[in-house]
Amino acid sequence: MINKVREATIPITEIEQSAFCQTDDELKSKPLEQELEAGVQWQKLPISYLKMSPEELDTRIFEARQQIGERLVVLGHHYQRNEIIKYADFRGDSFKLSQLAASKRDAEYIVFCGVHFMAETADILSGPDQSVILPNLTAGCSMADMAQIDDVMDCWDDLQNVMGGDVTPITYMNSAASIKALCGRNEGIVCTSSNAPATFKWAFERTDKVLFLPDQHLGRNTGSKLGIDPADMLLWNPFKPMGGHTEDEVRKAKVILWQGHCSVHTRFSVDQIEEARSKHPDVKIVVHPECFKEVVDAADLNGSTEYILKVVNESPPGSVWAIGTEVSLVNRVAQENPDKTVFCLDSVVCPCSTMYRIHPAYLSWVFDALNAGVVVNQISVDPTTAEEARVALNRMLAIV
Ligand code: SF4
Repeated sequence: MINKVREATIPITEIEQSAFCQTDDELKSKPLEQELEAGVQWQKLPISYLKMSPEELDTRIFEARQQIGERLVVLGHHYQRNEIIKYADFRGDSFKLSQLAASKRDAEYIVFCGVHFMAETADILSGPDQSVILPNLTAGCSMADMAQIDDVMDCWDDLQNVMGGDVTPITYMNSAASIKALCGRNEGIVCTSSNAPATFKWAFERTDKVLFLPDQHLGRNTGSKLGIDPADMLLWNPFKPMGGHTEDEVRKAKVILWQGHCSVHTRFSVDQIEEARSKHPDVKIVVHPECFKEVVDAADLNGSTEYILKVVNESPPGSVWAIGTEVSLVNRVAQENPDKTVFCLDSVVCPCSTMYRIHPAYLSWVFDALNAGVVVNQISVDPTTAEEARVALNRMLAIV
């Protein structure tokens, strides 16, 4: 056992989560200089981009995009701002966009408007001659940042010592390439929010226990869906020796849940669901499985971002939906379904602060650089890590 006691640290991405929360519905971009007044620590840009108005940036991005032409494909995650998503050639969740990155082999450049782990996955799955660009290098993910590879390796060593190899590591797509690689070289697998139950079943066919990283809530919700007693799911605190448990407790657990969470999805509560039901008796509640188990249990439906889009888009006119996921997506679903009532469960408008870091000024800067023949902010995963991570990703693709 590695006897480690150290200070718990909160990722900067988590600390900044509330920087753009507001009570007004309008999430319109401001000049970057004004957004930086929230005290956030974003990537530095040439000063000329800081002062440009949203309208000026829009014109500039449009013209630069035309000039780059088919050498470029722009991928936009559903949680991106409207001012960014309008330039996406494809929209999707992290998994769908990674698959697209793998299939668009003609494009020399892939600009990934999302967060760091997504650009890494795109780099792993794309061709060797393609460059993946993340417009703002500080666009991380607070959940992914909660699982640092050194801590995960310590945990893995502890589990090997206690369980003697009878454990399979599963990591959610929302994790660093180094953690996907750890899963690849240790007979483990990657999962998404839609195929997590299938990967749990796959793992339990091989070993009696599962280590699930980094989102405790998706892990707990998935275990519960498969009938695993919450008492058999143990929370691993990376800041305490043996995750804060005795060896015996660890040995008895069926699922070890890493102590990570999404700062966006843990804002949703059972009280918000009750309020929505009292105001709208016909409301259907759909939430993401990164929410607390009580919230998932109290909702009518739960599933991935793509699932949420599908159920709302396919519902009959007049339907009423309260959605528990990132507000930029909820607002867009509402705009695209004007014959339905669609609203976010949380009345405070709180976008994912790391997705929000892809301000139009960054997109303009990377497009201008490409037109000048320069690739900025390229995301490159080292070949060994990429190869091991690809093994874990391919195991997932083989079973779903
Ligand atoms: S919504 Fe949550 S999981 Fe998704 S990128 Fe933001 S912090 Fe990460």
